Amino acid sequence: MKVVVIGAGATGLAASYLLARAGVKVTVVEAADRPGGLLATFNAGDGHRLEHYYHHFFTHDAEINWLLGQLGLSDRVIFRKTSMGMFRGGRLYPFNGPKDLLGFDAVGLTARLRFGLSSALLACRKAYSRNERLSCLQWFDHWAGPEATDAIWRPLLRVKFGEAAERIPLAWMAGRLRQRALSRKRGEETLGYLDGSLQVLVDRLVEELVARGVEIRAGTHIEGLILEQAAVAGVRTPAGEIRGDRVISTIPTPVLSRLVEPINPGYAARLSAIEYLGAVCTVLSLKQPLSSIYWTNVADPGYSFGGVIEHTNFVPAERYGGRHLVYLSRYLSVADPLWAMDDAALLQLQLDELSRMFGRRIERTLQRHWVFRGRFAATLTDLGFHRRIPRFRSPVENLYVASMCHIYPDERSVNNSIRVAAELVHAMGLAEGAMSVPCGISLAARYGA
Ligand SMILES: Cc1cc2nc3c(=O)[nH]c(=O)nc-3n(C[C@H](O)[C@H](O)[C@H](O)COP(=O)(O)OP(=O)(O)OC[C@H]3O[C@@H](n4cnc5c(N)ncnc54)[C@H](O)[C@@H]3O)c2cc1C
Repeated sequence: MKVVVIGAGATGLAASYLLARAGVKVTVVEAADRPGGLLATFNAGDGHRLEHYYHHFFTHDAEINWLLGQLGLSDRVIFRKTSMGMFRGGRLYPFNGPKDLLGFDAVGLTARLRFGLSSALLACRKAYSRNERLSCLQWFDHWAGPEATDAIWRPLLRVKFGEAAERIPLAWMAGRLRQRALSRKRGEETLGYLDGSLQVLVDRLVEELVARGVEIRAGTHIEGLILEQAAVAGVRTPAGEIRGDRVISTIPTPVLSRLVEPINPGYAARLSAIEYLGAVCTVLSLKQPLSSIYWTNVADPGYSFGGVIEHTNFVPAERYGGRHLVYLSRYLSVADPLWAMDDAALLQLQLDELSRMFGRRIERTLQRHWVFRGRFAATLTDLGFHRRIPRFRSPVENLYVASMCHIYPDERSVNNSIRVAAELVHAMGLAEGAMSVPCGISLAARYGA
């Protein structure tokens, strides 16, 4: 049995690892010049690697902790207490637990209490399927009340999902709140990070794959699928054909749609109906921190970023030669003018906004900056999304599909990519060796199985 895996992001690498453990011959084909996908890193100075997009994981993420253990990397994991903030009404509030909520005077006391109670209630809801057709903002309007919803939830969801914010199901929000609630104790959240960045995981995984005989072809763009007797028999690349008994696609579904179009236009249309949001992350290297908070949600209108993530309030600046590293994060549709804005204009805009936010000229402390854009950063999981999730086994013989969309209603993450990869390998009947992957906390309905 030989399997061709398209895409060497978290899902493709994890699937390849599990297949190789089960004794399957694997070739992974990746368009970018190195494996990793959204786990890509860059040199943030003096060789210190940092993710293009901020990444942490949770204490209860069983799958990634299992994989790190298998790869001998458990001792590289740092778990630390982190802090959250909320910027609203021109003020930065700590936003970690009930005490902070009581002090959040951007809304009235009744609104604060309703916000706290409804959030706690929602985090306990596990029956996601009942909550799939109900908009979470509608639910919050009712239970948290319009004051708290308009001041907190609506701006946060708009920054994450744009105009589609009103169509985000309660199921997604319930999963998200549960994930965060489980990583908190007495108002403090503990998060995990891999010392040296996720590059350590990607490099170690690649090393392990090569040792197990997996062929990795980076810098190779798949141009089409080989079809023989109505079944997929491999992939076509500019460097020639790569044949396999089965092909697994882990690439974004609209990209796969273009490959499938000549073979099965109806299926291609279904794949392209899944919308993806882009992400723009500006990383700043500063001489001083902006605040003492790790993660600040920006709930005031008029900002080009929705999150200020001070990485060095999580992993100390000393680890990076004293540099203070900050992400400004924004998810958006590619139709949004910010997507196409040139880097220099974006930087200027964001420095002005940060200066307004923190009441001092931030450019005076700026050392360097980087702007990263990811076209397929997150699936737009709107109402009824589960009906659009393709099955692992596609209608095209020998073609299998596993991607970010299969993670729904859980939040997409490296951990959940590993879980989806394990489920896929199981669904293909090639699970020997993959079966030992523990299944952590999840609301997922195994739609793709
Ligand atoms: C801003 C941001 C913050 C995040 N924060 C976190 C976090 O804190 N914690 C966490 O766990 N997760 C986080 N994630 C999510 C996490 O990065 C993803 O869930 C995960 O990396 C997705 O992996 P994937 O393999 O499914 O997709 P991808 O990483 O997108 O991999 C798909 C791969 O397919 C390749 N490809 C595409 N087209 C072709 C083609 N035609 N031929 C060959 N190859 C092709 C791509 O180059 C890519 O390498 C974050 C993501 C973003 C964008």
